[in-house]
Amino acid sequence: MDGGDPLRRAVCCEGCTRVISDRFLLRVDDASWHERCLQCAACRRPLTDTCYVRGARPYCRADYQR
Ligand SMILES: [Zn+2]
Ligand SMILES: [Zn+2]
Repeated sequence: MDGGDPLRRAVCCEGCTRVISDRFLLRVDDASWHERCLQCAACRRPLTDTCYVRGARPYCRADYQR
């Protein structure tokens, strides 16, 4: 930990913009997501296991490789 903030910062989900309780937090680059809000930006498939990021947007493997 790099010193300081004793309070947890409220983290908001990039998908639904609501606060995330940290147990369900997923980090993608600098953005945070609820586990269930993280879905492919192209096909809307949920990305629970694997996630590929391009241009700060999450994609499934198939769409990322396009
Ligand atoms: Zn969310
Ligand atoms: Zn996809």
